[in-house]
Amino acid sequence: MAETARWATEDMILVENLEHSYGNFKAVDGISFSVKKGEIFSFLGPNGAGKSTAINVLITLLALQKGKAVIAGYDVTRDPQQVRESIGIVFQDITLDRDMTVWELLEFHGRLYNMPVEKRRERIDELLKLVQLEAKRDELTKRLSGGMKRRLEIARGLMTRPKVLFLDEPTIGLDPQTRMRMWEYIKGVNREGTTIFLTTHYMDEADQLSDRISIIDHGKIVITGTSWELKNTLGHDLIYLETDNNERALAILENFPAIRDIKPKTKGFTLVVHEDGTKVLPGIIDRLRAAQIEITTINLKKPSMDDVFIFYTGRDIRDEGQAPARARFMQAGRR
Ligand code: ADP
Ligand code: MG
Repeated sequence: MAETARWATEDMILVENLEHSYGNFKAVDGISFSVKKGEIFSFLGPNGAGKSTAINVLITLLALQKGKAVIAGYDVTRDPQQVRESIGIVFQDITLDRDMTVWELLEFHGRLYNMPVEKRRERIDELLKLVQLEAKRDELTKRLSGGMKRRLEIARGLMTRPKVLFLDEPTIGLDPQTRMRMWEYIKGVNREGTTIFLTTHYMDEADQLSDRISIIDHGKIVITGTSWELKNTLGHDLIYLETDNNERALAILENFPAIRDIKPKTKGFTLVVHEDGTKVLPGIIDRLRAAQIEITTINLKKPSMDDVFIFYTGRDIRDEGQAPARARFMQAGRR
């Protein structure tokens, strides 16, 4: 049906030449991208890259200064109210009302969004389990630790199923198990039809969760693509092989076109290939088989998201962005 086709290609987020400055400091410097309905899309970038600034313009928390942003078909400047009604947000900062219990807070949020009572109760149970706050359901939110508040904030953001869900560093400071459960849950929300835009400085999060990723640095998008595409742009994969006759294998592969370099190892050797390794591998196997060489071990390694990030930004961000979050938790915990 024409209707279906139109939806399948509809941009849920459309951003063109977006700029945002604080005074004369340009935090977002002319970014353009679009997110299709049903996608999980990530901004991957270090602390200070401009991720939160960009997301805040998209959710109408910051006024649009320059460029264009359309969410679910609504222009953020012309139709901010419709934008707000189309979206959900999981925020970086802790903004919890303090005189409600954990359960009341979620219940209130569900009522605010006109969720039917059964659905509310069901979802509250499911989310309290997800963020492991079941034992705290009747606790006043102000008595929660900083980490618990953070998790409750996430649960609140996931109560409804908006057209577009914005998550600003959703798993920052969470323990690895909770992060992994969060990813699964976010994927589930996405399968129910919600388009997802998230920011992160975690390589693995961007890599495993998103359909497409924009690497953002100094307010600019450096590259956009699927994890696979980004890794392939580096132009090399590694293939490790062990055979029953490594010496002969090496001699045979020496002039194989896609192989850029050969590194002998203790029990085998590594081939550096200068295109997508999955395309090169069958030819290598064929050539060795034709020479009656038996392959005993084989594995293909694509570059990691870390490799991609370093390639495009010239640096590593593994630990950046952690400190501010930790400081916030401590503040929140201190009360
Ligand atoms: P990210 O979310 O990627 O860490 P931000 O969007 O928070 O990045 O910040 C981008 C840049 O803008 C940073 O250099 C930050 O210091 C600056 N910045 C953010 N908010 C403000 C503000 N309210 N006033 C002035 N500068 C800001
Ligand atoms: Mg941020």
